[in-house]
Amino acid sequence: MNNNVYDVIIVGGGPAGVAAGIYASRKRLSSLLLTKEIGGQSLNSGSIENFIGFEKLSGMEFSEVLQNHLRAQDHITVETGVEVVSVSEEDNCVVVVDGQGKEYRSKYLLLALGSQYKRLETPGEREFEGKGVFYCSICDAPLMKDKDVVVIGGGNSAFEAIIDLLPYAKNIHVFQRSGVLRADAVYQERIAKHENVHIHLNREVKTFEGEAFLSGVTWKDTLTEEEGELPVAGAFVAIGYIPNTSLVSDLVDLTEKNTIKVDRKTFQTSHPRIWAAGDITDELYHQINTAMGDGVNAILNIYDKVKMEDV
Ligand SMILES: Cc1cc2nc3c(=O)[nH]c(=O)nc-3n(C[C@H](O)[C@H](O)[C@H](O)COP(=O)(O)OP(=O)(O)OC[C@H]3O[C@@H](n4cnc5c(N)ncnc54)[C@H](O)[C@@H]3O)c2cc1C
Repeated sequence: MNNNVYDVIIVGGGPAGVAAGIYASRKRLSSLLLTKEIGGQSLNSGSIENFIGFEKLSGMEFSEVLQNHLRAQDHITVETGVEVVSVSEEDNCVVVVDGQGKEYRSKYLLLALGSQYKRLETPGEREFEGKGVFYCSICDAPLMKDKDVVVIGGGNSAFEAIIDLLPYAKNIHVFQRSGVLRADAVYQERIAKHENVHIHLNREVKTFEGEAFLSGVTWKDTLTEEEGELPVAGAFVAIGYIPNTSLVSDLVDLTEKNTIKVDRKTFQTSHPRIWAAGDITDELYHQINTAMGDGVNAILNIYDKVKMEDV
């Protein structure tokens, strides 16, 4: 057990957590950042092209950029390879426990645990991730210029992916496993007038195929059992995402999508000692640049709280 009570513990080493960590150090908050790794979910990305200030970075290069900037700070303790397994409150402190049973205490906690895109868990999906199989259409649609693609899913996420792809892709096929599209009518109406969007109901992907990069998918009709192949350069899996909120589901208010409700200006949650930033929140847009901004806003607001206590 560590008796030190930090001003703030930041959990998560993605863009939100790292941005918060850099600001915490510069504000001379006594701060600790705990994370499994530095970089976050876009580590697997082959090419990040919208991180402002860098024309193009691989996921690994992005992680290095974050690590170098964070490690250059002299007023924050960073522990990687740490999985936080519980969060609770005791004696006006937040108590964080890692997988080894080690306890850490702080006045305030900033959660930057991110989220995970739901995978189909279909053969070939992981092999071609970032090499034709994508989950972030805002990020990767521009790679699909004049190419044929398939979007997998029939809800709002899938229709948002179609809209992101329309300025680029030649033909957009949409596979929906069930016979019903769940996307809002307004989305469906917008898409209906585009002749290059081909909706296939009752169709599921069986395998993702290719050599170095994806070259197509095999599919099966869930009603007739008919099978076939579709050559595509890109497959966008858009079946939703899972925010990493299970650790705190009994401490903070969540939305129906299990994201954390935050105040838009301060990024404080419903709990007086807990803030949240990045993809774990109910923010509308989930991107690297927005996650960093969230982290900065959250830590500056925590700094204001700490400063008020010291007066
Ligand atoms: C393949 C892919 C490519 C992408 N490409 C782009 C792109 O090109 N441009 C763009 O803007 N966005 C892109 N995104 C989206 C972008 O990555 C996210 O919006 C952004 O990473 C969110 O940052 P975050 O800090 O909120 O969370 P994350 O990046 O998810 O980071 C969460 C951090 O918390 C840590 N963590 C989680 N649970 C625990 C725990 N229990 N204990 C300790 N640590 C924990 C994780 O290890 C990780 O370090 C991409 C996403 C994916 C999946």
